[in-house]
Amino acid sequence: MWTADECSKYFLCLEGEVFEFRCSTGLLFDVNRQICDFKLNVDNCDITSEVVIPKPLLEKANCPEQDQLGCADGTCLPQEYFCDGSMDCPDGSDEGYCDANDDPNGATPCDPSCVLPNCFCSKDGTKIPGNLHPSQVPQMILLTFDDAINDENWDIYKNKLFPPEYQNPNGCPIRATFFVSHQYNNYQYTQKLWNDGHEIAVHSITHRGPEDWWSSNATIEDWFDEMVGQANILNRFSKIRLEDIKGLRVPFLRVGWNRQFLMMKEFGFLYDSSMVAPFSNPPLWPYTLDHKMPHKCTGNKQVCPSRSYPGVWELPMNQLEVGDFTCGMVDSCPANLSGDDVYKMLVHNFKRHYLSNRAPYGIYFHSTWFKKAEYLNAFQKFLNDVLKQHDVWFVTNWQAIQWIRKPKPLDQLHNFVPWGCKKQLDVSEMACSIPNICKLHSRVFQQDRYLYTCSECPPKYPWIRNEFGLD
Ligand SMILES: [Zn+2]
Repeated sequence: MWTADECSKYFLCLEGEVFEFRCSTGLLFDVNRQICDFKLNVDNCDITSEVVIPKPLLEKANCPEQDQLGCADGTCLPQEYFCDGSMDCPDGSDEGYCDANDDPNGATPCDPSCVLPNCFCSKDGTKIPGNLHPSQVPQMILLTFDDAINDENWDIYKNKLFPPEYQNPNGCPIRATFFVSHQYNNYQYTQKLWNDGHEIAVHSITHRGPEDWWSSNATIEDWFDEMVGQANILNRFSKIRLEDIKGLRVPFLRVGWNRQFLMMKEFGFLYDSSMVAPFSNPPLWPYTLDHKMPHKCTGNKQVCPSRSYPGVWELPMNQLEVGDFTCGMVDSCPANLSGDDVYKMLVHNFKRHYLSNRAPYGIYFHSTWFKKAEYLNAFQKFLNDVLKQHDVWFVTNWQAIQWIRKPKPLDQLHNFVPWGCKKQLDVSEMACSIPNICKLHSRVFQQDRYLYTCSECPPKYPWIRNEFGLD
């Protein structure tokens, strides 16, 4: 027997993707009629069926009112009901065709009213901000690392990739962005990285599967629980200021349509970096989501947003080119590459950026990739090469956005404050040298888990909807 709560949920297959919807309070979903209706009228909720959604008529319905559009069956509804995430047409056609090209309330194409610092776009996404000549643009390199920070990778981060002697042209140590998910994360190490000037960003609490869930099923509430929840955990157990948590990357890069970006706008996340852009020469610059995105939504079965999110930045993931292949994350590049191949790949793609429009060169890692000694060596060799250049900077994602908002030519960068390393920390924000090792019961995993933090141990293992680990 299904509960009323379960019977108010329903699923739609839209353009090959499954979406979860929910009827308004008190209504249940009628599978045969495909509508939400009062309880008394619905007796078929435990039947499952697949639905083919017809295309809505929109303007072709010639609706009597100005701001109305037509469902596939000719029903007229206000335009804002289309692609708002809840089904209003009797045939569901208002929610059936909602990508950036079909959404009748979708973002408009890039236009000249979009100006820095808060809006940035160009027709094909390759334009340099501030119309600088490429020779005046610092070549930014954005290293990012996904998932937990712990003893599996601490030595790599601390000693192999970020020893103090690797420095940017202004004498500050090179910096990167860490997209942190909760399970097995060490919050003392995380706090140290933040203290050192790296950027800590959000990669969800659970990192749950199935992969499709993120793009198709996660509700706005789920997005809040996962992403804002992880920001709260980082704030509580690593003391990271909430205002320093600027961005996120979705697990498996499964972008979550407008639901994800609504959550971001509401909470105040300032950028996403999950969209894998189609391979492009020259590569793409980051852009704001005021207007329609400048590239197709293709990578990794993504469901990109269709609406406008003024001031929210997207740092699209430009792919690496290696022979006939292209790859988003470095570890999704062909597995048979030798260390020498990897070095050549890093240099080749560096040149694709450096010798064209100098769009930020993103290199996206999972730390396990460095376990292959020849890959670590190849990467270090690449680092040593490019650090000799006076116009190459390893910066965090947020540092890159700050430059894009106020582009400064190369000769003015030595005192560009956002790229400095004079961060003022309160004593209470400094990582301890010996953390609390909290042995905590997890109700979800039905076992004990360890949590490393400079803060006090919570009573229970923190998890989604109980991010502070209260009893
Ligand atoms: Zn991940």
